This record gives sequence, C-alpha cells and structure tokens, in this order.
Amino acid sequence: MSTPNLTILLAEDDPFARAMLEQILSDKGYRIKMAENGQEALKKFYEDNDIDLIITDMNMPEMNGLELIRKLRDEGNDLPIIVLTSNLEIKTAVSAIYGGANAYLLKDENIEDTFVHAIEHTWDHYQLAREKHRLLIKLEEKNQELERLTFLDGLTGISNRRYFDMLIDKEWRRGTRDKFPISIAMIDIDCFKFYNDTYGHQSGDDCLKQVAGALKDSLFRPGDFIARYGGEEFVAVMPNIGLKGAMEMAVRMQHNIRKLALPHEKSDVSDHVTVSIGLACMVPDPQTDTAQLIERADTCLYRAKEQGRNRICQTQ
Ligand code: GH3
Ligand code: MG
Ligand code: MG
Ligand code: MG
Repeated sequence: MSTPNLTILLAEDDPFARAMLEQILSDKGYRIKMAENGQEALKKFYEDNDIDLIITDMNMPEMNGLELIRKLRDEGNDLPIIVLTSNLEIKTAVSAIYGGANAYLLKDENIEDTFVHAIEHTWDHYQLAREKHRLLIKLEEKNQELERLTFLDGLTGISNRRYFDMLIDKEWRRGTRDKFPISIAMIDIDCFKFYNDTYGHQSGDDCLKQVAGALKDSLFRPGDFIARYGGEEFVAVMPNIGLKGAMEMAVRMQHNIRKLALPHEKSDVSDHVTVSIGLACMVPDPQTDTAQLIERADTCLYRAKEQGRNRICQTQ
C-alpha cells in the first residue's frame, strides 16, 4: 500500500529536531503542521480539523507527549499517533503505547530511514484496523438480520412456527413462575381449498397475507403475538389473559377479517372469507406443558369446524 496524501501534525519542542523532521516529511510530499508542545498540538488538531496522523515528541514543556495522547484518546479520537523519543528507556515507549500511541520511534542516527517507514506502516495498519472494524459491524448487522429472518414467515411477513415454538416455551416458563394464565387462539381459514380452486394459488397467497395482516392488527398488547402455524392456519398467543379477554380478541380477529371483505363464492359458510377459531387458556404449572394447551385449542378449532365453521369455540 502506498501512503496517500496525509496531513501530519508534528509536536516537537526542539527546533533542530523539528527542522530535520520537517525536511524529511516534506521531501516525502506530506503536508506538515507544526506545534512546539502538546498544548499547541491539541489546539491545532481541533482547530484545523484535517489532521490524519500525529507524531509527537515525549518530553515537551506545558504538555508532554503522553498527556497529549491521553487527552486525545480520552476525547474519543482514534487517529494514529507515533511517539518520538530520544529516551532509550523502554519504559517511556511502553507508557506511550499504554497511553494510546500506535507506534514509537527512537530519535537515533537511523531516523531518516525508520521515520517514513514507520509512518507508512502505522497508516496502513490503522486503515486495516478501521476496515476490519467496519466489516465486523456489517457482519454483526447481517447476522442479526439473518436471525430475524429465520423467525419470519416468508409469505406473510409475520412470525413463523419456529418463533411460536420458542416464544410459547418462554411464556410458559414465565407463566409458571409468575402464575398467570396463557391463552392461545388457533385460527383456520374456512374452505380455503375451495378458495385456491376458485381464484388460483396466487390469489390464495394474497388472501393469506391479508388475513395475516388483519390478525396482527387485532392484537395490541405488547406481549401478544401472532404466528403462521402452517398452511392456512395461524396461532395467537396472549400471555396473562383469561378466556374472557381471549374471546374479545377472537371476536376482534373475526371482525377485522370480515372487514377485509374478501369474496369467497365457493365457501360453504359465507360469501366472504371467514375463519374458525379454537380458544384455550391454562395457568401453567410444572405438571402441564404447552403441548396440552395447543391440543386443547386444536380440539376447540375442530369443534368450531364441526359445528359449521365461521365461529369461535373455547374450552369449557
Ligand atoms: P376447512 O374449512 O375444513 O379448514 O377446509 P380447508 O379447505 O380450509 O382445509 P384443507 O386442509 O382441506 O385445505 C387447506 C388448503 O390450504 C389446502 C392448501 O393447498 C392450502 N394452502 C396451504 N398453504 C398454502 C399457501 O401457502 N398458499 C396457498 N395459496 N394455499 C395454501
Ligand atoms: Mg522534547
Ligand atoms: Mg381451513
Ligand atoms: Mg387447516
């Protein structure tokens, strides 16, 4: 990687060192800004707002290199910083790195060679670290999106069976602990086979989407949720609600589906698309499980179909 146009801020109190370093940097084509101490460097950094990289001496009056680095890092600046030190003690370099410097350089006879190399290396490293950070964030976003998609029904956009299985277990455990009832509604479109036969599979899909939307709109408490259970069957979960409340919800579901006014001329029970609903409610305890709740709602749904469809049946 070649070094791009960089604006470098150089903080150095020794005029001779400053002149020499400026010469090296300008020979290489970098834009250079100078400061005689940390205080001035900090001021320039914020005022000019175009500094890509900072090179700072350690021992300077007013504000030394380490203080400068700490201040910049504390204030959330992540730009690369290279520390210059004539101090051969390794402790100085280590404290600079701990303070947030990216690299350190010894001011010795090789500085002319090592200086430019250090800048390029540090800049490349910084760019790669930023790219890696950006990619990790993107990856995390993609993972979250994928996880979200695994719980959504592809056709209707509402939650799918997998989500239902997970959530009902969670609610059941919560209900067991807090001793509140859980109601569920099994909802099945009436004579849907005839709908497909009459209007085509594509229209059947559209009907499923609209019914899903109407069902979703019928629930308004934050804990309630609706999922596509499979085919033309849906399930609503209503934690902490008894049969009476669940019945009100079910009536609203039917009402909202009726409002869609989707023609269904071959239905045995109406001119429009209707649903049958089975309702069950249980207070969870360790001796029972979600399978029993689902089975009870299923039995009620079956009864609703038996009794002529387009109706709500509940556990006695
Ligand atoms: P009932 O009133 O007893 O519920 O009768 P039904 O015709 O609704 O029930 P049945 O189980 O006989 O038929 C369900 C139909 O739902 C058959 C199947 O092709 C259709 N179906 C299931 N999933 C989809 C889907 O994703 N899209 C479409 N268009 N149709 C579907
Ligand atoms: Mg100095
Ligand atoms: Mg059906
Ligand atoms: Mg069915």
